[in-house]
Amino acid sequence: MSSEILNSLLKEYEQKKLKAEIDSEKLKEELYEKVPKLKEIENELNTFAINTAKNILKNGNQEKEQKDLEAKILFLKKEKENILKELNISLDYLKPHYECSLCNDTGYITSDNYKSTMCSCLKQKLLDYSFNKSNMSNLDKENFSTFNPNIFSDEVDVAKYKFNISPRKNILNIRDKCIEFVENFDNVKYKNLLFTGNTGLR
Ligand SMILES: [Zn+2]
Repeated sequence: MSSEILNSLLKEYEQKKLKAEIDSEKLKEELYEKVPKLKEIENELNTFAINTAKNILKNGNQEKEQKDLEAKILFLKKEKENILKELNISLDYLKPHYECSLCNDTGYITSDNYKSTMCSCLKQKLLDYSFNKSNMSNLDKENFSTFNPNIFSDEVDVAKYKFNISPRKNILNIRDKCIEFVENFDNVKYKNLLFTGNTGLR
């Protein structure tokens, strides 16, 4: 799989992640305009978070102060929850709505031991890409049952076609070989098929 495809998919992911976050910010701003109390709580929470970090840096982990801050934060969060509940708004409403809730549209999942693995959504996108690329997505239109040998001439002309059988007979032989190949796909002893020809032929 070419890294170009992965890179362009990751760019798409970045875009949709950003969009989800901008949309959520907009929703938040709209809601805060209607309910200024929520904005106040958010500001206070941010200040507390900064103070907590400052405290830890300055004094080491001072247990008493730390506990007080945590209690205040918890209280504010509860207050925010109650306001939202009264307005009949779920807590998730203010979170970004990512297309994939597993990886939050990053394409990767980080496990507890900080190991990063590709998310199933990105794997699927890569599969879809190779599926389309190999023309396999046309299988409903282009398959053995829609195969029409009549578009090949049944004239035998060695000079013209370089075969002592007609192109139609030739393509029917090829079709039979392909069917045989498909029917024996699970058989390890069965040889592979190789199609050759000029670039652009299919
Ligand atoms: Zn995902």
